[in-house]
Amino acid sequence: MIAEQRPLRHVIRRSLAENLLTCPTFVREDNEVLAFGQAAHSFFAAYFLQCRAANEETRLTDVTRLAGEAWARTHGLQQGRFAEFMQLCEFFALTWEAGLETLSHLEHTETLEVGEDLLLTATMDRIDRADQGDPDDPPSRELITDFKTERAELDHDFQMRWYAQQRLLGSPALSEVGVRIAWVRDAFLSDTVWYRRGELDFWWKTMLAGLRDRLAQPDPQPVGGPSCPDCAKRFSCGKATAVAREIPEDEAQADELFQDLLRLEEAREVRHAGLKHFYGDRQPRVVHGHELGYLTPREARLVITAAPLELHKWLKRHHYDADAALKVDSSAVAPVQHKLVEAGLAKHEFSKAGFRWRKFVAERKKVRKHEEEAQ
Ligand code: SF4
Repeated sequence: MIAEQRPLRHVIRRSLAENLLTCPTFVREDNEVLAFGQAAHSFFAAYFLQCRAANEETRLTDVTRLAGEAWARTHGLQQGRFAEFMQLCEFFALTWEAGLETLSHLEHTETLEVGEDLLLTATMDRIDRADQGDPDDPPSRELITDFKTERAELDHDFQMRWYAQQRLLGSPALSEVGVRIAWVRDAFLSDTVWYRRGELDFWWKTMLAGLRDRLAQPDPQPVGGPSCPDCAKRFSCGKATAVAREIPEDEAQADELFQDLLRLEEAREVRHAGLKHFYGDRQPRVVHGHELGYLTPREARLVITAAPLELHKWLKRHHYDADAALKVDSSAVAPVQHKLVEAGLAKHEFSKAGFRWRKFVAERKKVRKHEEEAQ
């Protein structure tokens, strides 16, 4: 008797789907950065579970033990990052409460069969009930939180849609799912994006068609693109983007790259100054598709000639948003900033960390500077 031929079933995680859609030959790089993120997520779940077991919103006394256990059970870690890991876990416990009243799932792996050929999976860091309904009834609204340990400015739209749609398809009682991103290192929370049932159906159908197309290709070819930075083939693949090939693999390579960058920046400054001097008494020219020289702006800029109060009144009278148009110049009020804070009219806050560099200031000097400022 001939055995019945079953179609090949692909098990696809959300992250793989996103990358395959971009490039059909993508291979995920299993590096220490990934392992660091896995260890951190393992701690986040263990910590919240411990809070739940103790019925307390925080369990700071358990952080060291739980973080140590998460580190010990994760393979592939760069051992020199242990102190950084412990610090991150402590910061997490200080900045995030367990939210036991709404917490329903941690590290929840959702699976979904799509036809006979696809089994889709996604692991959601945390799911909260968001409808304030009867705990015995299935929720009609849920909120998914995804914790990020990296700071890279990545687009999380695909991930948010996937999580929401998988949850909506897997739980018939849900009418709406919200997804938000939590950047753990900065204790920064994104706005929540809410998806109603049916809203993502067309996108989902299109995405699945694309996924099946990539999986069916007999001889897939690399195409390059946004997946290259996370791809294991980026150093050997001819289609890898230039940026992907530059991403260092360790601190020694990163230091070398930064040194190159400082040199290039210095070289740029020198050339810029040379050309500025050269064009000081010459007419601008068109060179390599650029206008070069002393250029008058293309458009005249608007100069407000009225006093701020007069302008404010005029805008209000004509039903424009006068407050939006007139912003306070914070550098002009800097001398009285502490008084403004005391009066409750202003506050000091840090913005989200962004990639840049600056001169290193040793702690001792920083303290002295703050003391001088306070006097
Ligand atoms: S490096 Fe980029 S183009 Fe090459 S296989 Fe990987 S994702 Fe595709």
